Amino acid sequence: MGDGRERLIPLFDVELTTEEIEAAADTLRSGWLTMGPRTEQFEQDFAAHLGCRHAVAVSSCTAALHLAYLAAGVRPGDEVIVPAITFVATAAAVRYCGATPVLADVRGEHDLNLDPDDVAARITPRTKAICAVHYAGFAADVVRLGELCDEHGLALIEDAAHAPSATAPESERKLGTYGLAGCFSFFSNKVLSCGEGGLLATDDDEVAALARSRRSHAMTSGTWDRHRGHSAGYDVLDLGFNYRIDEPRAALLAARLPSLEHNIAARRELVHRYRAEISGLDGVSAPFADEEVERSSCYVMPTMVEDPELREPLRARMLERGVQTSVLYPAIHEFTAYAGGESLPHSERVARAELTLPLFPTLAEADQERVLEALREGLSELRGTVPA
Ligand SMILES: *Cc1c(COP(=O)(O)O)cnc(C)c1O
Repeated sequence: MGDGRERLIPLFDVELTTEEIEAAADTLRSGWLTMGPRTEQFEQDFAAHLGCRHAVAVSSCTAALHLAYLAAGVRPGDEVIVPAITFVATAAAVRYCGATPVLADVRGEHDLNLDPDDVAARITPRTKAICAVHYAGFAADVVRLGELCDEHGLALIEDAAHAPSATAPESERKLGTYGLAGCFSFFSNKVLSCGEGGLLATDDDEVAALARSRRSHAMTSGTWDRHRGHSAGYDVLDLGFNYRIDEPRAALLAARLPSLEHNIAARRELVHRYRAEISGLDGVSAPFADEEVERSSCYVMPTMVEDPELREPLRARMLERGVQTSVLYPAIHEFTAYAGGESLPHSERVARAELTLPLFPTLAEADQERVLEALREGLSELRGTVPA
């Protein structure tokens, strides 16, 4: 049994290879530090990987969401329907447009993605878009949500922050390519990471042009164009932002992209093992279905504690045994800045019962066993039973 002095197994860890570090270091030596040839290269590589026409690299997924909502025509007074179980950025970026995020419920403990029926019930004349989040890399129902959007003349935006290289059922088509725009995050703990970064993917030429323009103050040319003598001056065409990514990060991403599939395969193997073990435990379950794991990017390993009262004491007991855990996510409508809406029972239940276990491609089997042991022991102590 752990005594609190065992090496901590973190929720998440990142290990860069020498080649990846060299790619960033070479960029530093090159003397060109922001949006230039490395950014262009990464955009081409990522568009090819996704199978979409345009990939616009930006400073974060939050920035990509803001640009996607603007491209969908979201303006002050409009509404965008987003799930209550997501990172707050999905909703915050709606407010950047002066619009109101309308929170919809998720399907339940077995499926932490948007419930299309609940979404349908929340569509009003002010609704402009629906944002589907692919929780942990498991596909939201992009087909039904897309149909709803078509029926009501809305834009489907995908928050694919968790989901690079993931797919929907019965299709090879990558998530992030179903909507008007797909938004990706390269934040440190994401599946493909560089520290801070994001990307907007789209097949729509106008959406891509808007994102390219607004990410750099809606100027008619960038410093890289001027450096290459393409343009002497510039005009400013609209209200833009500084949402640029820099070259060392773009180089790091381009260097890491080729191992993305390999890393996801390692994540899937760990998730299969977690799920098999958890299916034999009383008092805890794993959302989504086993066959969905092969289509998911497996960003995190979510579990649901049957008795939500036990979750925090269980987390404390696991931490005593050197295992870090987290909660993805608290429900947005229970945050101070988003309070006042109606109750969303499934989201509230998820917010109280969800417990996220450590998951990263280099998690050793022995460490995964320690996580499971801490889960088993903590649960059995709290439930006053013997381990299953
Ligand atoms: C991480 C995350 C974001 C924000 O990504 P940043 O790159 O940190 O801005 C948005 N949505 C979801 C679902 C996320 O997990």
